[in-house]
Amino acid sequence: MSEAGEHSTTPVTLVDPIDISTLDPHFRNEIRSMPNGDDLYACFACTTCTAACPIACQWTYKPHQLIRMILLGMRNEVLSSKEIWECLTCFQCQERCPQGVRVTDIIFDCKNLAAEEGLVPENILGLGRQLLESGQLYQVTADWEREDLGLEPEVPGLDPEPMKAILHGTRTGRLVGGGD
Ligand code: SF4
Ligand code: SF4
Repeated sequence: MSEAGEHSTTPVTLVDPIDISTLDPHFRNEIRSMPNGDDLYACFACTTCTAACPIACQWTYKPHQLIRMILLGMRNEVLSSKEIWECLTCFQCQERCPQGVRVTDIIFDCKNLAAEEGLVPENILGLGRQLLESGQLYQVTADWEREDLGLEPEVPGLDPEPMKAILHGTRTGRLVGGGD
């Protein structure tokens, strides 16, 4: 504790200060101009979205903070955050927002922007490649439960070609290396 009359030159803060020179003042308009951004500016930081989110307790940036970061112009931090990819897309936040902010859909918009800039995590890209190669996101393994249910013991394989045809030429296909 400081002695009486002694003044500290470092102010005490409860959060890390933001370096405003790193902010992108156009980011909020970029998100607002997207199909889900109409009510972005109506956010009044009530944190209801975070209270509703089943995974926010695991996140460094909570849903209401992600929205605030967008409004402040923290483009790099939002688009490179793991949180936008870990969102469960359960829509609990969006359903409960009293201001009609489309929180979940805005997170989708952020993912689309991040993908355009090559900021997709490797594990997500791996899922995309799995889809292209096998036609399914998760491999169903053969086990005794199939036999109990009267199903053939081996899981029939899926033909990945129709999936490749659908993704061929799309941005998703290009992203995971399966398109033009
Ligand atoms: S619930 Fe809506 S208004 Fe409240 S912090 Fe979240 S986005 Fe903002
Ligand atoms: S949609 Fe995403 S951010 Fe919203 S409550 Fe569900 S997990 Fe949380």
